[in-house]
Amino acid sequence: MIISTKKGTPLQELERIIKNFECMGLQVTLIRGTDYNVFGLVGDTTKVNVKDVAANPWVDQVTRVSAPYKRANRLFHEADTVVDVNGVRIGGTEPIVVIGGPCSVEGDDQICTIAEAVKNAGAQMLRGGAYKPRTSPYAFQGLGTEGVMDMVHARKMTGLPIVSELMSADKIPEFEENVDLMQIGARNMQNFQLLKEVGKMSKPILLKRGLANTIEEWIMSAEYIMAAGNDNVIFCERGIRTFEPYTRNTLDLSVIPIIKEKTHLPIIIDPSHATGNYRYVEAMSLAAVAAGADGLIIEVHTDPEHAWSDGAQSLRPEKFAQVIEKCRTVAAAVGREMY
Ligand code: PEP
Ligand code: MN
Repeated sequence: MIISTKKGTPLQELERIIKNFECMGLQVTLIRGTDYNVFGLVGDTTKVNVKDVAANPWVDQVTRVSAPYKRANRLFHEADTVVDVNGVRIGGTEPIVVIGGPCSVEGDDQICTIAEAVKNAGAQMLRGGAYKPRTSPYAFQGLGTEGVMDMVHARKMTGLPIVSELMSADKIPEFEENVDLMQIGARNMQNFQLLKEVGKMSKPILLKRGLANTIEEWIMSAEYIMAAGNDNVIFCERGIRTFEPYTRNTLDLSVIPIIKEKTHLPIIIDPSHATGNYRYVEAMSLAAVAAGADGLIIEVHTDPEHAWSDGAQSLRPEKFAQVIEKCRTVAAAVGREMY
């Protein structure tokens, strides 16, 4: 971090600033100029808040040289992290993982039928929401515990590990016991209390990008989970809000190389919520694989027209199988395998 102070800053003030940073365990180098003074801070500056430093009226400019995150940072952890989800490995040079399933669990028959179908189509994991973050309080809110237990039954039948959204800390014991991969939804990406709590869990976390969050904010949310003790974080891009109404969200595929450059964690793409339309899911899946995604999470339903949520963006199992087959060709072209 580099800090410059204003012309005429009193010596006492310079000494006070230096002492402050030294008390934080940082090494401070002062370069004295005729008019301006510049400080260089060396050490773990993740605890230093740029805005707090800039609040000092004698401070002119504050520049962060390193990123504000440490545990997620590729600089301090060169090798790719591979996350193991109940036997399915995601990240690094592992094969690309495909997760399929309905937006919402609608009952035991529905989830078991779809689980068999996504397995036969070539998926390695089953998704299904039991607690749903709906925009309207009058919309279906999910089957709750019953839905989780239906997912457990579907796992028993198919052997597919299960992913489901955890919306509140009070359900952590239920999820710790039953779910393999905890989804933190877009709307909860900055629910810091929840992030701290899931950071204490022993199960891996699927961290979706917030509706309107920057990449740095997203990485900082992963940092929250990791700082609380859980290093098994997988990023999931699901599209961000833009001015464009033809798609539900705008899929930002540039995050793949950026997340891989800045962090060592795996990243998967959700083309279903990104587009909101089943017609565009195939194209975006192929593009995601071409861009280096470690996996895909796709909504699949046997009867999309009557789905209790997100039918418009759900693929029928036959189409889902075709998408996976096409992805294989693209994966091979970019030197990746698929399970
Ligand atoms: C979902 O996966 O069904 C979901 C609600 O996703 P998101 O949090 O990305 O909107
Ligand atoms: Mn959905």
